[in-house]
Amino acid sequence: MKKVSVVIPVYFEEKSIHTLFEELRKMESGLTNLGLELELIFVDDGSQDNTVKMLLDLKKDRPETRIIKLTRNFGAINASKTGLKFVTGDCFTIIAADLQDPPHLIVEMAEKWLNGSKYIICTRNKKRADPLMTRIFASLYYRLIRLFVVKDFPKGGFDMAMWDKEMLPYIRDCSKNINRSLYAHWLGYKAEIINYNRPVRKNGKSKWTLGKKFNLFLDSFLGFSILPIRLISAIGICVSFLSFIYGIIIIIGAISGTLAVQGFATIVTLISFLLGLVIIMLGVIGEYIWRIFDEVNQRPEAIIDEVY
Ligand code: UDP
Ligand code: MG
Repeated sequence: MKKVSVVIPVYFEEKSIHTLFEELRKMESGLTNLGLELELIFVDDGSQDNTVKMLLDLKKDRPETRIIKLTRNFGAINASKTGLKFVTGDCFTIIAADLQDPPHLIVEMAEKWLNGSKYIICTRNKKRADPLMTRIFASLYYRLIRLFVVKDFPKGGFDMAMWDKEMLPYIRDCSKNINRSLYAHWLGYKAEIINYNRPVRKNGKSKWTLGKKFNLFLDSFLGFSILPIRLISAIGICVSFLSFIYGIIIIIGAISGTLAVQGFATIVTLISFLLGLVIIMLGVIGEYIWRIFDEVNQRPEAIIDEVY
């Protein structure tokens, strides 16, 4: 029997667990109808509430469920990546515990997988219920991504995907500072698309903060594109060229005697402008260096405390 693996990172989800489990049960019978087996892997990302206890209770009803407990909070990406190490299925997916990724879609994706697709993604329908600013930033982000990173990336990104086990090594072993959805798409497998309406989070609140979004933005660009460095070089060349011309004008002025000793304002403006530019450039280079360092040092992405 072919097996579908589902990895679910959980963090302070005691309110969602029960409904989630019910939905997963329904999804499992859907899979059974297709002749598929379900492998469930929960990864507790250091929750300090009853999440693990509840999962262990539910495991009594469904003993083959795997629960991996991390020593502390490592973030959803690292948690789900740890879960991927335990995947033994023929295809796999990662979903959130808050039911924003509706489990019934797993059945639809599995059907497409059975029909031969190796990579299936679920993109949300146009209407987003998010605040205006979020929508503006999201749209700008995806526009830039499509322009500079992955040309055929879906316009609104995607939240759920199912991958054939052929893709597992790439995704499980990908480098630390990488945007996983982008990377999956970058691999080049042709994506089959399912459209769905993304529900809003019912219980608890999203831990998807502005800081994390900014980080993702940097990872997406710095991780896939040499553009920021090219931009720095281009600005450097323009500025040097302008400075060179300005230098010539000043020298000519000095030789012909038309240059009185003035120019305090010019000097101050130029120095502060150029210093600002240099500091920004150092910042961009620093971002790259940090990523290189993070990649080459042997620090693991997450530590497993217990496997049930
Ligand atoms: N999550 C996690 N560690 C974290 C934050 C979130 O494992 O530090 C889990 C969370 O329990 C959920 C999934 O990752 O199952 C997605 O989180 P959330 O719903 O907060 O993100 P959003 O829906 O806003 O992207
Ligand atoms: Mg969510």
